[in-house]
Amino acid sequence: MSGNLEIKKCSECGVEKELNLDNYHGNSASKDGHRNKCRICYKTERSALYHSSKKITQLTQDNDNLRNTNEVLMDKLDAYTKKCEIAETKYRETENKYDLLVQDLKNAGKWPVKG
Ligand SMILES: [Zn+2]
Repeated sequence: MSGNLEIKKCSECGVEKELNLDNYHGNSASKDGHRNKCRICYKTERSALYHSSKKITQLTQDNDNLRNTNEVLMDKLDAYTKKCEIAETKYRETENKYDLLVQDLKNAGKWPVKG
């Protein structure tokens, strides 16, 4: 049996590769002493994980920014709502004054005003 190359099929890409440390990382917990994924797949996976974690960090930051923007907008909306309430109160006051004025004119027989 010596001299025979041991071949291991990568669990990820399915490619059969010579079982050695050039192709597979060592893993003492495994029966054949190597990882089930070849080095290339392992590296690809690590790279994907790295990019995913960077992406997650970026998304988290974007989310924080959006939350801050949302808070600013909510504050602006609150301020705007208050302005609207003040404007509405003033409008009602003016309307009441107008009604009173019309009532006075009616009482004095001067309503409707004749042009
Ligand atoms: Zn592979």
